[in-house]
Amino acid sequence: MVATIRTLALMALALTAAAQTVRVRLAKEGVVSAAMEEYVAWVLAGEAGGMKSAEALKAMAITVRSYARVNRGRHAGQGFDYCETTHCQDARAGAVTERLRAAAWETEGVTLWYQGRPAMVFYTGHCGGRTAAAGEIWPNAARPYLRSVEDTYCVSAGRNMWSAKVAWDELAAALGLPEIHGLEVARRTASGRAWKLQSDAGPIDAERLHLRVGRVKGWNLLRSRNYDVRGSETQAIFEGSGTGHGVGLCQIGAEQRGKAGQKAAEILAAYFPGTRAGVSAQEIPWRKGSGERVELWLSGTANEQQVLPLAEHALALAEQKTGLRAPKGPVVKMYPSVGVFRDATGEKGTVAAITRGRVVHMQPVVAGLEQTLLHEMVHVVLALNAKRPVPLWLEEGLADQLSGGRTHPAERARVEKLIQAQGLAAVVARAVSGRE
Ligand SMILES: [Zn+2]
Ligand SMILES: [Zn+2]
Repeated sequence: MVATIRTLALMALALTAAAQTVRVRLAKEGVVSAAMEEYVAWVLAGEAGGMKSAEALKAMAITVRSYARVNRGRHAGQGFDYCETTHCQDARAGAVTERLRAAAWETEGVTLWYQGRPAMVFYTGHCGGRTAAAGEIWPNAARPYLRSVEDTYCVSAGRNMWSAKVAWDELAAALGLPEIHGLEVARRTASGRAWKLQSDAGPIDAERLHLRVGRVKGWNLLRSRNYDVRGSETQAIFEGSGTGHGVGLCQIGAEQRGKAGQKAAEILAAYFPGTRAGVSAQEIPWRKGSGERVELWLSGTANEQQVLPLAEHALALAEQKTGLRAPKGPVVKMYPSVGVFRDATGEKGTVAAITRGRVVHMQPVVAGLEQTLLHEMVHVVLALNAKRPVPLWLEEGLADQLSGGRTHPAERARVEKLIQAQGLAAVVARAVSGRE
């Protein structure tokens, strides 16, 4: 796979401090860069802030991330990945709580896969007891895992009944008709949603009516397509249940499943039958081990007994050399292959390891493991003590200098000179202060 870890690391570690970032256009701030997991937390705040179950929130985080991955680039022409509205996903950076952030980071990199390919997913407020197949609503979006499934969980929390009245003249204007005075459901989709409507002015497609009325009267009026409609003298009266298009994960149902003790993976399997959640198409399962301070996530054939002591030692050494202490223990995630590492982190396969905050992501390393770990632990210790982002040259130079590495010779030489002139303690202090 790799000639030596060092040739890899040479290209790799320049990127060490950079996270997998996405660009989001916010109404106030304009286009901002954020870690993917941070963006997922924003969307949880916008779309799932009321969820109480931790497992349901994790299922939502995975769904949100899967949606984001498949839809990335839809705003590429405008210079960003996602807008903050429901056009993409409702993202509320200002409303993130620790609980939501934890759901995002605890599922870091995990998305849904179907037969080795990224799954295209949707979610809905309350499916009314049966989800809609995607093909019922959007013929182009039909997928085997987006089929209609029965959901007894959401209705156990109530049927979510609603009614809406639309005056005939308003309805005529929305539909671009001269007039209309009567309306009923003529045909339903397989899951029972309105499909074809019949009016005194002729047949009307239910999706067309839904979009036209939504645009004019707001999206909260006809809350789903699970409805009956009848006419009175002056208006059309809709009586329905559930909220949203009904496709994919039912949020109220997921919440009830979580409360009933289901895990995130079970919740996702119920709404997206046939898919698997994982950081890659190979759906790797993690094995977790804990040392005194380091938490180690391994998969594949990597050996915990080998890696954990080295990681603990590297942390202690990084602390001793910098004179800093990591307030929290690092997490080391060692991926089973280059492909999986690339899928999970969004980095190039030429990157050997990348540290984001206190999480060290690594390719499976055979040679040079001790030095790579020490290099990354210097990053962790600096990051956890820094008041502002450490200038990249200083961080890489220090990591190289203190680990005896030669991946960034120019930066290391610059740092070496600085240490000779000012002493190591002063250079470390400068690094964590964030001064250039
Ligand atoms: Zn958008
Ligand atoms: Zn449901």
